[in-house]
Amino acid sequence: MGYKNGGWKNKYKIQKCVGERYTCHCAARSVDECHCFPEPVFEDVDPEGIYLVLRLDKDPNARVAALAYADSVEAENKEFAIDVRKKVSEAMAKSKERIGESEANPP
Ligand SMILES: [Zn+2]
Repeated sequence: MGYKNGGWKNKYKIQKCVGERYTCHCAARSVDECHCFPEPVFEDVDPEGIYLVLRLDKDPNARVAALAYADSVEAENKEFAIDVRKKVSEAMAKSKERIGESEANPP
């Protein structure tokens, strides 16, 4: 289990989504015939930045942190706070694990 052992480590390679780009891959003759979707465009993040990745569906502590973040950001961006809480709810529904429990030792 990742979060149950060891200290801070660089575990992920992250990139920032800076927009979308539309490219047709289906060889359509016109826009009306095309069934392609826009694709996200990623850029490298600030190498001096300090980032924290939270896996909400596997780590119950990550969900606690995300809900605290939603409370903190709410005054500056209510829409973001609502979206974060929605993602935590989705992750809760998906996750079987709760704080202090593990899949190896169910209650
Ligand atoms: Zn297309």
